[in-house]
Amino acid sequence: MLRDRLAFSPILGAVIATGAAMAILGYILPTTPARADLLIVAPHPDDDLITSAGLILRARQAGEVVWVLFMTNGDVMGMDSGRQRQDEAVAALDLLHVPEDNIIFLGYPDGSLEDLRGPYLAANTTRAAANHDGQTTTFGDRGLGRAEYHRHIFGDHATNNGTNLRVDLTHVLSSYHPAHIFVTSEHDAHPDHRTTYHFVLDAVAGARDAAPSYNPTIHKTIVWNDFSNQLAWPAAANAAVYFTEPPNLQARTGLIWAQRESLDVPLEMQVATLTENLKWRAINAHTSQGGNNGYIGQWVHKDEFFWTERTGGGSNRPPVPNAGTDRSAGRGARVQLDGSASFDPDGNTLSYQWRQVGQPSVALADASTARPSFTVPRGTAEGTMLVFELRVGDGTSTSVADALSVRAEGTVVPEPDAGTPQPDAGTPRPDAGTPQPDAGTPQPDAGPRVDAGQDASTPQPDSGAGGDDAGTSEPDAMTGGALDAGLADGATNADAADEIPSADAEPIPGEDTAEPGDDDGSADPARDAGDKAAHDDDAGDDSRRRDRDDGCSVAVGKRSTSAAWPLLLALAWLGARRRRRAGQYGS
Ligand SMILES: [Zn+2]
Repeated sequence: MLRDRLAFSPILGAVIATGAAMAILGYILPTTPARADLLIVAPHPDDDLITSAGLILRARQAGEVVWVLFMTNGDVMGMDSGRQRQDEAVAALDLLHVPEDNIIFLGYPDGSLEDLRGPYLAANTTRAAANHDGQTTTFGDRGLGRAEYHRHIFGDHATNNGTNLRVDLTHVLSSYHPAHIFVTSEHDAHPDHRTTYHFVLDAVAGARDAAPSYNPTIHKTIVWNDFSNQLAWPAAANAAVYFTEPPNLQARTGLIWAQRESLDVPLEMQVATLTENLKWRAINAHTSQGGNNGYIGQWVHKDEFFWTERTGGGSNRPPVPNAGTDRSAGRGARVQLDGSASFDPDGNTLSYQWRQVGQPSVALADASTARPSFTVPRGTAEGTMLVFELRVGDGTSTSVADALSVRAEGTVVPEPDAGTPQPDAGTPRPDAGTPQPDAGTPQPDAGPRVDAGQDASTPQPDSGAGGDDAGTSEPDAMTGGALDAGLADGATNADAADEIPSADAEPIPGEDTAEPGDDDGSADPARDAGDKAAHDDDAGDDSRRRDRDDGCSVAVGKRSTSAAWPLLLALAWLGARRRRRAGQYGS
């Protein structure tokens, strides 16, 4: 079990402040956060897939540690329905090689998140489950610990209120320090979705109270754009076509489509025949939601899209990768890749790291520049797809990977045509911004990457439409491996979070990686850094202004956590009462 493996601080690890109407709650934090590369925070089962299935699979294929967290069980139709949706979520994520032990269910009531962060925020309030069952506490029996997170960590169900939700989510972030968090945005039309974003910001702030160097990149997206015009977007499923801009996006949200992060999904999810398309198949596991016959079936496209931002210290905004346009090339041809459409919202100089994924292996020259090149091996079979991933850094943070593919086809070129760029022949890329300088500033080296249990214990994908062979790992071995691989302390882990994964992070059979090339990128005109509206739209959110009271700490030993929980709640309530201004909680 998780709590048997965590090394707890002998004294209180952190204090949670809940904004203007503050409740103080001490709780136990692990002294050594385990590794997590990505955390997907989904309001409901299926939001994880429709927004992030491609990036989940790509990360797993690269040997990264992925956690998926569900705020609710999607139980608006009742607890039995919620349990079914838990089963569906686990089955769908198994297709993407995410073990059940890397799935967290918080178990708060579907449809209630806005209330939980509003009138039911305080620790002394109870929000009844939004269904006919009327249960006022969290529930769940799947995922990590085969229980909802609060029960798994603290030994009992949590009362449905916003304070407990913050405690749980903050505990998750403090336990794993995910470098990248993917979440529905504050502009999503669904109250659960937009409130999830605010809860995530709350939790990041709470985690940073304990580990100030922790500063994840937030990637936010939109599922429900406009309920009054819902049929207008997104377009019907088509794995060859990128998502189009939601109607009225900028006027409604301030988000700028050209500044989004568009991440190509892996080839398994670009399969044109939808019944063989892995994202389509994973979505279809959510039979209670109509599978692909429902709204969620429209979310199979060539990419997934987000807007990036940082929530913690400093004003730096994360860079956005763009690996360029898919193309075809003859066997023996010299191909130049082009990542120069990557950009940094602050106009910082970008560094580049390319790697090849899969076979046949090629020598990638200048892999740390915007435009590396390689020669398509002459023996390559017609139709072979050569896949390359690009991450960019701005000196402070490092992006996730975007990818492109080069299809080997046509006549064999008799001699290498060194340095001649190939014509673009593939699907047009979305316009992801103005080209950035490719001066190739070296990334800070945070040391060797640590492989965690998820890497070693989970089978990797073996083919395009495959996935049924994705056996889950032994629970304890899995969890223990991930935790044991944790880095030494929060500062180190935060640095590592920004590290570009080394090419040998995960030995996937049949995959080779490119050789790093010389860092000799030439300078392009600097990008106009003036347009930053899309990244500042939440600056006024009160939830990000944290009050804290260090005088309300409670020290609890490891083994007494469960028994002490009512005490913690009581103290939190008393702490809140002392600070409560008249009428703040309404009752
Ligand atoms: Zn949802």
